[in-house]
Amino acid sequence: LSPCPKLRNCTRLLSLLPNQTTTQNPKPFNSLHFHSLSQTFSSLNSLHPYILPQFRPILFGWLCSLVSVYSLSRIVPCVGQLPAILGNLNGFTRLRDSEGLVLLGLFVLARFVACYLQQAFLWNAALSATCEIRVRVFQKILQRDMDFFEGGGGLAGDIAYRITAEASDVADTVYALLNTIVPSTLQLSAMVAQMLAISPLLSSISALVIPCMVFVVAYLGQKLRMISKNANITVAALSAYLNEILPAILFVKASNAEQCENARFQRLAKADLSERLKKKKMKALIPHIIQIMYFGSLVFFCACSLAISRSSFDGRDMISFVTSLIFLIEPIQALTSLVVVDLITQGIGKAYNELKQGEPAIERLFDLTRFKPKVVEKPDAVDLNNVMGEVHFCNISFKYGENMPLVLNGLSLKIKAGETVALVGPSGGGKTTLAKLLIRLYDPLSGHVLIDNQNIQNIRLESLRRHVGLVSQDITLFSGTVAENIGYRDLMKEIDMEMVKDAAQIANADEFIRNLPKGYETNIGPRGSTLSGGQKQRLAIARALYQKSSVLILDEATSALDSRSELLVRQALERLMENHTVLVIAHRLETILMAKRVFLLENGTLQELSRNQYQSSVSRGLVI
Ligand code: ADP
Ligand code: MG
Repeated sequence: LSPCPKLRNCTRLLSLLPNQTTTQNPKPFNSLHFHSLSQTFSSLNSLHPYILPQFRPILFGWLCSLVSVYSLSRIVPCVGQLPAILGNLNGFTRLRDSEGLVLLGLFVLARFVACYLQQAFLWNAALSATCEIRVRVFQKILQRDMDFFEGGGGLAGDIAYRITAEASDVADTVYALLNTIVPSTLQLSAMVAQMLAISPLLSSISALVIPCMVFVVAYLGQKLRMISKNANITVAALSAYLNEILPAILFVKASNAEQCENARFQRLAKADLSERLKKKKMKALIPHIIQIMYFGSLVFFCACSLAISRSSFDGRDMISFVTSLIFLIEPIQALTSLVVVDLITQGIGKAYNELKQGEPAIERLFDLTRFKPKVVEKPDAVDLNNVMGEVHFCNISFKYGENMPLVLNGLSLKIKAGETVALVGPSGGGKTTLAKLLIRLYDPLSGHVLIDNQNIQNIRLESLRRHVGLVSQDITLFSGTVAENIGYRDLMKEIDMEMVKDAAQIANADEFIRNLPKGYETNIGPRGSTLSGGQKQRLAIARALYQKSSVLILDEATSALDSRSELLVRQALERLMENHTVLVIAHRLETILMAKRVFLLENGTLQELSRNQYQSSVSRGLVI
């Protein structure tokens, strides 16, 4: 066991490594494009609704900073006296001075405790605010239109990276902000007061020198910000790639594509390496430049103080003055980065780095929440009550985007309550699209979809999707127990085990579930990986049944099944058709035979097929 968590993560990563490493020469990677527009103010603006509710820890943190600055302002003059006190103590001449030493010790201790508490409170506020942001961003992502996910904007890995790693950057930034606003102002005022008291003239000289230092680092800071954004993009690309390829590992191996994927990964990893290296180099550079300037200015001040007055300005004052200066630099670094954020006079130092690094993260995180949904619920939308289950597609036209071809072109179809209708047609003909329109994942370009003569655009989305169940082409199961997967609708409430078992029985799934090691409480693994295709399909049907919807869409729910599974699934479907309106999208002849009417969806329109006609469809390969 490694004691350090970072080291442990490292070990976890290394333990994933295979024994051999391939040596592939990566092709040059096309550099990623990014927007470099500075949006500091909008970033800060986005943050405040999350920071304000944390006023309590913030207030406590700031109170502690008051104590810490007060202690500091008592420490500084003592430091100037230190050589004298120590000198006198050596000779044991004045016992009174040792009290000064005790006082100094007490103030140092007070400052230490206050600083610690200040940081603890402010981190509490920053992390809580970030947690709220995460929750909010995820909630917003769930509200986004389907085209965000299907159009590639919602790459799972990229989103995951933004919500996990980048949100941590945001926490650092929020902390830097809170730590800057009040504590830095307090410390700045206290130190300026000290310096003015010691030497107004030297203080005026510092007022000229410090802005020069600030000016130099402004450029470096801007660069750091750009590099940070680039580094975030490359690592997000890496994470997106892994999220896509790892679930597809079976396919990769079967296609002998390990080497090719290895090369792709190497290219992404190297791109990330180069961006990360740039960032680290820049981060290493900035403090050194600050140090050089700082020492330069110290020498300058010493020279000035000697030149100004040799008589009235003694060594003790010099020590106090320089000490004040040391403690002055820190709040200036922090404040300049905050107050004059995007002007040429940008700040220097630690807080500045945090802010500049955090900005792209804030932008990218809040970018996820900035959208105008296309599928919106009307404010006066109603619930569906006493649903009979009549479905009417009325003159529907639809396309996926401005410059895309029409998928559906003036299509009409009326399904009576309780009726089963089959839809066949060439792949890419728009069958799944029709299903998506019925549960309002998209709105049609023109025409309406009606349920029980009610336009679905006037129905609350939650109510619509509760009454229309979908068993989709790509079965989605989650890692969790069988019962949780079937009773998914009630996952956050209480799953009704009776209903789960009833649904499983109708779906012909009860038998195989009982044979699992823990029955309904068996964990089925990620994406249901421990189940066969037929079992997954029956589980998906059971889940649709649990929902007790009146209308069911079965999108190729019987595709790719072995004959025994198919028989079981077909029996399940037959039972289900008894009291549901069913739109069955099918390849298989047997499934279609169960339907009263069969329609062919081709070229965006529907055509009803007679028995003879779908025999000919079979020969055209539209139905298996
Ligand atoms: P089917 O289910 O009949 O095989 P689909 O309804 O899935 O067909 O697709 C119909 C057409 O719409 C296809 O040409 C497909 O390429 C296109 N399409 C499907 N989904 C999207 C999407 N999210 N964005 C753009 N085009 C899409
Ligand atoms: Mg389809």
